[in-house]
Amino acid sequence: MSVFEMPDYDGHEEVAFFADKATGYRGLIAIHDSTLGPACGGTRMWAYPDSAAALTDALRLSRGMSYKNAMAELPLGGGKSVIIGDARTAKTPALMRAHGRAVDSLNGRYITAMDVGMTEADMETIATVTKHVSGYSQPGKTGGDPSPMTAWGVFCGIKAAVAFVHGSDDMKGMRVAIQGVGNVGYDTARHLKEAGAELIVADVNEKNIARAVETLGATVAAPDTIHAETADVFAPCALGAILNDATIPEIKAKIVAGAANNQLARPEIHGAAVTARGILYAPDYVINGGGIIRVCGQIYDWSDADIRAKTTRIGATLGEVFAQAKREGRPTHEVADTIARARIETAKRAKAA
Ligand code: NAD
Repeated sequence: MSVFEMPDYDGHEEVAFFADKATGYRGLIAIHDSTLGPACGGTRMWAYPDSAAALTDALRLSRGMSYKNAMAELPLGGGKSVIIGDARTAKTPALMRAHGRAVDSLNGRYITAMDVGMTEADMETIATVTKHVSGYSQPGKTGGDPSPMTAWGVFCGIKAAVAFVHGSDDMKGMRVAIQGVGNVGYDTARHLKEAGAELIVADVNEKNIARAVETLGATVAAPDTIHAETADVFAPCALGAILNDATIPEIKAKIVAGAANNQLARPEIHGAAVTARGILYAPDYVINGGGIIRVCGQIYDWSDADIRAKTTRIGATLGEVFAQAKREGRPTHEVADTIARARIETAKRAKAA
């Protein structure tokens, strides 16, 4: 099967395959759409069973980045790269440099950042051979860890959802159940606590639980039942696929809004299932856009204040998604996709005119 016949091929502008015999590097870079700017999205290193699986992932993830960047109103298109290999055993500095040369060969049409299987140190190695890399600590530049900005965006998104459901974004006394109090979940919890919310947390890491209990006065629930807690908001900040056949019927909160990627196990079924239960779902790639806004700010040298202001706008964007979904009786994730596609099409027409 050729790329053009793959089910996940969606008019992608460019899909490039790279190999380097000396290092064993095999990678792919997919550029979905560059209407809004250079394609930007992280590098994922994963032990794909075969190259078809790697290609499917690159096609899907790069389209996801087009939508995410469009919804965050960024001057960036959507792209993604994947390296075929186990990040724990196959990664070497030479292999990272081979990937950097692949990125560099696209002359800035694709800018990479961190994703699963990659570390700050890897980004530094890649940066020795290409300047088209962002989203890590660079001397003299704002940026580095995107988690605090992701958390700020999630907090703004939760407030927007609360305002949509209750008519006010006052968080005093709101009970928020957070699954995963790691980098993003903990910072989100901190903002919520400062705004007067009550916190219930679950994590598989005892240290992270202890931190949330001791510093934020959170109460603790079990990781596998946190979604079913009596709460106003359920905030998934750990795992993907948390909204599935088993969990959706058990959710008591009227709002699901959190940082985790790919929360809907099967978007085509579970988006509608959540809506049918009267639960307002904040599409994950919209509410967790603060991280890519931070990455973009590093590319274009934006000030911290600008980056924060753009991240705060996630709340308003979600408000538009919620309102349109209600008007049209459609799941919120579908509406977000529609708005993202429309933004790209509008920019395309404006460019062509
Ligand atoms: P993290 O690894 O720092 O935190 C995840 C936390 O979840 C950890 O404390 C971990 O122990 C906990 N956890 C793992 N399995 C769990 C389970 N079964 N039940 C409860 N807790 C569990 O990761 P992070 O950077 O905070 O990211 C959290 C989520 O947000 C991920 O899905 C990530 O893809 C997504 N995200 C993160 C960013 C970012 O800027 N870091 C940006 C966009 C999306």
